[in-house]
Amino acid sequence: MISIKNVTKSYGTLKVLHDINLEIPQSQVFALIGPSGAGKSTLIRTINALEDIQAGEILVDGTSVHEKKTDINKLRADIGFVFQSFNLYPHLTALENVTVAPINVKGIGKKEAEEKGKELLSSLGLGEKFASYPGQLSGGQQQRVAIARALAMDPKVMLFDEPTSALDPEMVKEVLDAIRKLAGTGMTMAVVTHEMGFAKEICNQIVFMAEGRIVEVAPPSEFFSNPKTDRAQDFLGKVL
Ligand code: ADP
Ligand code: MG
Repeated sequence: MISIKNVTKSYGTLKVLHDINLEIPQSQVFALIGPSGAGKSTLIRTINALEDIQAGEILVDGTSVHEKKTDINKLRADIGFVFQSFNLYPHLTALENVTVAPINVKGIGKKEAEEKGKELLSSLGLGEKFASYPGQLSGGQQQRVAIARALAMDPKVMLFDEPTSALDPEMVKEVLDAIRKLAGTGMTMAVVTHEMGFAKEICNQIVFMAEGRIVEVAPPSEFFSNPKTDRAQDFLGKVL
């Protein structure tokens, strides 16, 4: 579903992704972990063309992401992206945040978009919050609205960049539960995370990155009990 081939990325003269290759099959959940500055955010942002690349190719369900001919709006409708910092529209209610793109980008009728939006918000435990503005919601609630907003576009894949890092500890679980539930529906996902317990429990593969390279890819049972590289051992020694 997501195919990353020989991708190289630089910011000016600083090379931050070195010849990255990764295949994420349909309905699989991959965790991207590694030290700060490893290139995790940059890599995940290249998948929906928030970043350009200097070499290689990325395909999402067969569409070449950085090809000039690719319709970027259509591509982004297929790729849900959830940021660390929620990024909700502050002047719109929870329901309006969820329906604005389906109505304006996909041309779905307001009534239909609202029905679906209410369903999504309810399924994420936000049935009482349709009319609330982001400023009236907790961080965990805002992040669940952000997940509902992404899902409202019927994406083929979901990408998360540290979705719980900006949350108070007591709100981490409700957001991880929402992502876990989504994994259960067969959604294809890549999740940058520092939540090792979560990565271990729900992810099919752990992708360990350091210094702009993929150092190890392994199922959690292998990666956490028997990391093959010194880099990964050193990292796990610090975070576990
Ligand atoms: P991670 O998410 O693993 O912490 P990032 O992808 O954010 O790593 O960063 C990888 C490298 O790219 C770091 O050296 C970082 O300083 C650099 N970098 C990230 N974003 C930019 C940017 N917009 N301009 C210049 N350098 C950047
Ligand atoms: Mg990052």
